[in-house]
Amino acid sequence: MGRQNVPRDQWLELGHECPRCGEQISEEDVHSWRPMPEDPKLLLLYCPNCGDRVEINHI
Ligand SMILES: [Zn+2]
Repeated sequence: MGRQNVPRDQWLELGHECPRCGEQISEEDVHSWRPMPEDPKLLLLYCPNCGDRVEINHI
């Protein structure tokens, strides 16, 4: 589980690799688009393969 700093446009277009198992995670796997007040650029996803939580921090 780790926070990844990824440009929003890049990951929306190409997806993002799960840091644990390497599975490609896409927009469909987003658990929450809702910005958190304390961290409005943070996005939560769950890997469909290993179930690991991935946090993407839009930069
Ligand atoms: Zn995974």
